[in-house]
Amino acid sequence: MALFGHFAHGYRGQRKSRALPTPGLFNQRLQPLASEIHPDQRSTSMTTVLPESPAVPADAPRTWSFVNRLTGRPEQVTCMLGCTASHSTEMDAPAHPDDIWCQSSGEDVFLPVNETGSPEFVRVLSSTLNVMPFSTTIAYRLPHVSIEVMQDSWIEGLDPDGLETVIGTLAERVEQLRRTHAQLVKARAEYR
Ligand SMILES: [Zn+2]
Repeated sequence: MALFGHFAHGYRGQRKSRALPTPGLFNQRLQPLASEIHPDQRSTSMTTVLPESPAVPADAPRTWSFVNRLTGRPEQVTCMLGCTASHSTEMDAPAHPDDIWCQSSGEDVFLPVNETGSPEFVRVLSSTLNVMPFSTTIAYRLPHVSIEVMQDSWIEGLDPDGLETVIGTLAERVEQLRRTHAQLVKARAEYR
């Protein structure tokens, strides 16, 4: 899909990054292994973890300005509705316009996945709503969704049709899992 272009300033894997209002909490959440973050939840097969800084939709879009590092001139930005980024870094010093990034993210879900020899909780199927109003990837200047299929592995820049395609694929997978579940229940009942 054409929207999956390379993002020059490191879009990939940088969800919830520089622009969120609580970078300390961000670091606490992502630096340790996921299994170390929620040791009390190892016994459950599925966990839902609310973000430390829940997305608080703004009542009205925020408008602010920054100094464009390329031109030296001030630029005005109107945030995407629901943007939870503080934008303090871009407000405080001249910024590259590509770094202006509005974002809102949903809650995190973890599943125990064995990647390294023993199961560890990794984030699955997280999503972010983003706008980069000055991005060199033109499609990113409109609201779009990125999905973290598994921790640090992203499907980026989804427009509504693209997101619908991903949702449809996942819904089919869930139906397959339900059939597998029924098979499992039957197999267990008949197992001697
Ligand atoms: Zn914003």
